[in-house]
Amino acid sequence: MSFTELTCQVAEINDLLNALSVLTWDARTQMPVGGIQTRGHQLATLSGMARKMILSSELGQSLDGAKREVQGEAPDSIRVRTVEQVRQAVEVFSRIPAELVSSLAELKATAQAVWGQARAENDFARFQPYLEQILGLNRQLAEAIGYRAHPYEALLGQYEPGMTTQSLKNLLEGIKTATLPLVQAIAQKEPPRWDFLTRDYPEDLQRQFALNIAQKFGYDLSRGRLDASLHPFEISFTRQDVRITTRYRRDYLPMGLFGVLHETGHALYEQGLSPALTRSALTSDLLGLYAVGGASYGTHESQSRLWENLVGRSRAFWELHYPVLQSTFPAQLGDVDTEEFYRAVNRVTPSLIRVEADELTYNFHIMLRVELEMGLLEDKIAVWDLPEAWNAKVQEYLGLEVPDDSRGVLQDIHWSAGLFGSFPTYTIGNVMSAQFYAALEQVDGLSEAVARGDYAALRDWLGDNIYQHGRRFSPAELLEHSTGKSLTLKPYLHYLESKYRWLYGLG
Ligand code: ZN
Repeated sequence: MSFTELTCQVAEINDLLNALSVLTWDARTQMPVGGIQTRGHQLATLSGMARKMILSSELGQSLDGAKREVQGEAPDSIRVRTVEQVRQAVEVFSRIPAELVSSLAELKATAQAVWGQARAENDFARFQPYLEQILGLNRQLAEAIGYRAHPYEALLGQYEPGMTTQSLKNLLEGIKTATLPLVQAIAQKEPPRWDFLTRDYPEDLQRQFALNIAQKFGYDLSRGRLDASLHPFEISFTRQDVRITTRYRRDYLPMGLFGVLHETGHALYEQGLSPALTRSALTSDLLGLYAVGGASYGTHESQSRLWENLVGRSRAFWELHYPVLQSTFPAQLGDVDTEEFYRAVNRVTPSLIRVEADELTYNFHIMLRVELEMGLLEDKIAVWDLPEAWNAKVQEYLGLEVPDDSRGVLQDIHWSAGLFGSFPTYTIGNVMSAQFYAALEQVDGLSEAVARGDYAALRDWLGDNIYQHGRRFSPAELLEHSTGKSLTLKPYLHYLESKYRWLYGLG
């Protein structure tokens, strides 16, 4: 009985979280600027209600009863894992003081607006006091959540449960050691031709081509749609309605195209959740008050990167689809062959901006952010000194001079949105994507099917091993079950080495 009651209560919380997401989608795609302030109140009210429901005595009672009911059942059954997810959320939420939650929410709203202005006007000093406050509240948050070795672990754990600071450091160090020499060797090489990517590409044709690929990948438009927004994203309101956006640039083809492939990867995850888990604790992040179905942010990112990079930037992919792209844009691509196009969309160029980075230099953008975040939390770096520390790391890792803070420390929205500890999930996603891909390449005939443009078997493998389970299994369990190993760098480094050595003739 209690378990059924718990399920009903969680379903209602899930409805609230999905309603929050609808408001967020609308704010980012349709809402006139005038709506900003009142929308902020609406979001705050709904998340406050969700928090209250999670901490309510009614839910507490059903949870206690449900714990007893599932005793003795298989430890990874849906019922046991449901109870576990709710228990964790209740426990952590009750440790975080309500004032801290509301201070953070209020501060985030203002800080994001200030950050936007500061970035536009290249004025870090303006953002600085807000960042100091955000850092302070994140320190309090880390203390409230609790950690073993390092406060960063508490913050990171909100996005990547189970990942320790030490294992993250090892992971980043491993990538640095293996790929820095590669980046340096490539810098000595002649860059491939890519002028044609900046020709004039009408938006409607870009959309048509990209959406066609998304559908070939398996994105179901009866449960999805594609819109344009300033920053691409995927958002879902249950598996029945999973939306994506992209940003088009008429004078830069890869922006809109790979944006769609990336977000399609996220969308396939959400659309592939088991229907039986709809409105449950296994398809929502109760702790983050966010309706997201994946096991972790890194796991989610592994799916976007898998479809975008391992499939969408592969040679086989362009051998198959380039003729269609060329006939969509005959004037722009008439003088470009498949090989040239493949090389152009995989060229390596250290850049100032994370979201424009190539596969190989991308992780250095993450490393420097993680090192700065840890330095800030440890009080080794003062917020005031952050721009200087940032610029020094960009010089060290990417060999670039940062001309201004707008293209430096102010470029990402994350810190103004209070998100400390979320950057690593992008790199974790990269690493996981290659590990999953290496495992599925062992399946008979699968690579051949993908090369033919038949993506059903690939999608089914991912669906069986990852998508359907939602949050039932931890990222570590998913990896163990489907690849037989815990998180390992090997397949990722092998992928990068072999791809880029070949591309740049490094033997
Ligand atoms: Zn993503």
